[in-house]
Amino acid sequence: MVGSELYDVIVIGAGPAGLTASLYTARARFNTLVVSGPIVGGQIALTYQVDNYPGFPDRITGPELVDLIRRQVEQFGAAFIEELATGVDLSPTPFKVHVGDKVFEGRTVIVATGSKNRRLGLKSEEKLMGRGVFVCATCDAVLYEGKRVVVIGGGDSAVQEALDLSQFASEVYIVHRRDRLTACKCLSDRAFENEKIKFIWNAEVEEILGERRVEGVRLKDRNTEQTRTLDCDGVLLAIGWIPNTEIFKGQLELDEKGYVVTQGGIDTSVKGVFVCGDINDTTYRQVVTACGSGCMAALEAERYLMKMP
Ligand code: NAP
Repeated sequence: MVGSELYDVIVIGAGPAGLTASLYTARARFNTLVVSGPIVGGQIALTYQVDNYPGFPDRITGPELVDLIRRQVEQFGAAFIEELATGVDLSPTPFKVHVGDKVFEGRTVIVATGSKNRRLGLKSEEKLMGRGVFVCATCDAVLYEGKRVVVIGGGDSAVQEALDLSQFASEVYIVHRRDRLTACKCLSDRAFENEKIKFIWNAEVEEILGERRVEGVRLKDRNTEQTRTLDCDGVLLAIGWIPNTEIFKGQLELDEKGYVVTQGGIDTSVKGVFVCGDINDTTYRQVVTACGSGCMAALEAERYLMKMP
């Protein structure tokens, strides 16, 4: 239940980072509102199996983990509003967070809106998402044991994901639109030495094939314009990330890629506004690191509130 107009802390976003931040601030008895959006849990809510979150030796699904964290947060009295923040006004304090026609005020704001995978923009990609199209090898590689998977992209993520997948899949094809990788040399070398990983250069995925599950991809050679079909069981998209910072344009300092400019990873250009989680993580992107940065943002917010008159 949303309890009052003015909150000590408004957390925008409720993936592992935002949930952990709100757990800490609510437990410290700061009046906390979580503007979660309709899907609590962020990307982890879309992950079937979580093997690497400490404390769950018998494995847990993403939605189960989210549900447990949310229950823990609510035990300490944080309020949730399950709608998207539509705008912010971070110039005066208290800060204002708009949710449609509602306005909530916060003495501090923690931004944990995450990032989204860049998509190819194909209808087939959306139709088959979760049915063979996926975005995280760490989460889903085990489902492709003995299968053939296509990885799209040529940066660090694509190569790292292909290496992770190669521990399970029988064959991994990296399909890249250039004639060379842009991934770092150490990752690239490991991929070139890996017998399971093959490369298709100068190629675009024109279509992902299959009705109920992925059955293959149609590729176009960028030099010859010729197309061909490659049978596969999975397609992993690793073509970069887009931080969810649209509503912060003009309010927080952002870099040219849209990431929030920070000092030490948590403090933003506006005093009293903090960030955590994937929105600013270009390297690790794990549930446990998101939780860690959520904790750090909460502790910074608490220190800031303690110093306020
Ligand atoms: P990235 O470096 O932006 O690479 C994106 C890749 O996708 C590029 O190869 C790009 O090709 C390709 N691409 C983009 N749009 C495409 C499209 N529409 N169709 C086909 N291909 C497309 O992203 P990233 O690899 O996710 O890396 C992001 C950050 O995370 C980097 O800072 C990286 O160093 C870091 N990271 C580090 C590690 C590690 O150290 N182990 C692992 C993962 C990520 P073009 O080059 O032609 O644009």
